[in-house]
Amino acid sequence: MSAPTTRDASLLLDILGGLVPLHLVRLRDPAELDRVRREITAEAFGAGSPSENPQEYGLADTIAACGDRLTNPNSFRSKADRADRSRLLNAMATALALSAMSPGGVTWCGRHWCTGHAACLAAGAA
Ligand SMILES: [Zn+2]
Repeated sequence: MSAPTTRDASLLLDILGGLVPLHLVRLRDPAELDRVRREITAEAFGAGSPSENPQEYGLADTIAACGDRLTNPNSFRSKADRADRSRLLNAMATALALSAMSPGGVTWCGRHWCTGHAACLAAGAA
């Protein structure tokens, strides 16, 4: 496994830079926002022991399960692995979008997302 490079991190941030605004649009729907908030810890999939089905992982579980493989080019060769990558990128973008909706938004790896930037500037959060 090769160590992630600055170019890898930049590419990831570019991808998230496109995905986070799309998720912010999706989360304008109150029902979708409520569903996603429950999805953070897989509550949406029912109580009980963690699922063996990656499709039923919560956002945090998805990020924890395969986040370390994101920048390794050999980690996503199979169709199932590529589905994991898609779930991971969407989980990261959703988590950042949820954070962006909080006062002051979120700044991660030098990128800032929010829903009211004038308030961020006024509070010195960006
Ligand atoms: Zn802002």
